[in-house]
Amino acid sequence: MANDSNKPASRQARFQAIISHCKEYGFIFPSSEIYDGLQAVYDYGQWGSELKKNIKDYWWKSMTQLHDNIVGIDAAIFMHPTTWKASGHVDNFNDPMIDNKDSKKRYRVDHLIEGFADEQSATGNEQLAKDVLASMDALIAKDDFAGLKKLIEDNKIKCPISGTSNWTDIRQFNLMFSTEFGSTVSADDENNKVYLRPETAQGIFVNFLNVQKTGRMRIPFGIAQIGKAFRNEIVARQFIFRMREFEQMEMQFFIRPGTQKEWYEKWKVTRLEWHKSLDMPAEKYRYHDHVKLAHYADAACDIEFEFPIGFKELEGIHSRTDFDLKQHQEYSKKKMQYFDNDVDPATGKPYGNYIPYVIETSIGLDRMFLAVMSQAYEEQDLGTPEKPDSRVVLKFQPKLAPIKLAVFPLIKRDGLPEIAKQIIDDCRSSFRCFYEEKDAIGKRYRRMDALGTPFCVTVDHQSKEDNTVTIRHRDSMEQERVAINKLKEIVLNAIG
Ligand code: ATP
Repeated sequence: MANDSNKPASRQARFQAIISHCKEYGFIFPSSEIYDGLQAVYDYGQWGSELKKNIKDYWWKSMTQLHDNIVGIDAAIFMHPTTWKASGHVDNFNDPMIDNKDSKKRYRVDHLIEGFADEQSATGNEQLAKDVLASMDALIAKDDFAGLKKLIEDNKIKCPISGTSNWTDIRQFNLMFSTEFGSTVSADDENNKVYLRPETAQGIFVNFLNVQKTGRMRIPFGIAQIGKAFRNEIVARQFIFRMREFEQMEMQFFIRPGTQKEWYEKWKVTRLEWHKSLDMPAEKYRYHDHVKLAHYADAACDIEFEFPIGFKELEGIHSRTDFDLKQHQEYSKKKMQYFDNDVDPATGKPYGNYIPYVIETSIGLDRMFLAVMSQAYEEQDLGTPEKPDSRVVLKFQPKLAPIKLAVFPLIKRDGLPEIAKQIIDDCRSSFRCFYEEKDAIGKRYRRMDALGTPFCVTVDHQSKEDNTVTIRHRDSMEQERVAINKLKEIVLNAIG
């Protein structure tokens, strides 16, 4: 049945298969696994770190190298504690939580209700699911915690662990991790408390003047950054979708006040185009406008992707007004102004001094990894009734693939390994290659399919005579004979 793969149970099974594949093939391991792991923290293995780096490089290049007016920085994770007072994170970076008194488990209220809605739509109660989500959105927008608790009680939403509806009241919890600075102070001395940044954006705002002045940047311009962020997420059980330590790729675009609507729309479109340029299918994306705006925003939307766990936020586009720069100006007593000597056609005079407005694009690198991985993952049945056969193939776009070219000598002697190694030596400075001589060729192909390697080359006895090899294409599994001296060009064209 064509639609089976879209049923929640099979989507869940697919998600589990992807998680297992990531582990088995060296993409992602649970952190400190020998000690049974650390909840919602993961390590990227030998191939995962390559894939992640390729995604990162593609984002960095498209933001900085391809835009004259965007530059990158790399700010420290630790920042002066006042940063987080000014940004509002100390007071506002909270999520409403509820505890189940029997299991002692704590849930983010929106996640608990969303989980209930997912279950309802999975069992055919689409309308109820929609109504519950709509009520939740309205209550969250009003910070109506009593109303949210009533919604949970009225729908008899149960704790997945204890199975009871014995709930506490809803309370707010701050998601920032803190630690102490220096060696002689105690952790509860407020003045010495530093936070692990919960977003990379503030590192950009506090460097706004440094970059603007030293880079002689003129508005509109952007500052991009890739780096780690930390959030003490309460419910963190969706693999790398929600982690406590994760990586963000953010860009803050500084603009003239009053132009924010136009730039917000522009960046929404530009960012979606970026996703499509990676051959990610358009129908798996949608925008979701925020009903409740964060304390700093005058417009905000998510770019959602259809993960195996459903449509979820992958990237946020936020119109942050002049909130952050203004706050930093107030707390630091340093002017965060820009002098704009372009002439305002309305007055015939320069626009003059102002605090710029900001449009932010913020994408989770790990979520992008999960999007790319779940899009690429395919289980194929290649068998016949007489001869069962199957493969798992990762159909990465070649520029993202961890390994671009695998080279196999057909057998381990007769000078074939030497030719294979020579091919690798000729190519390795241009892209990642992999040499493999163990097992039958078919098995070696399958292993490379499972890592998403777009090209495999087999060196055989004919190679010695005419300097040709067989190249095998991952997706079509087609094989063709090509000259050895054409290989590099073929791969470079594909990863272009
Ligand atoms: P969510 O509603 O899913 O918690 P958010 O709206 O808090 O996300 P933002 O603060 O807008 O997220 O952060 C920007 C991006 O950072 C998100 O779109 C997401 O891709 C990524 N991100 C946020 N929190 C996490 C996390 N705990 N683990 C992995 N990625 C995250």
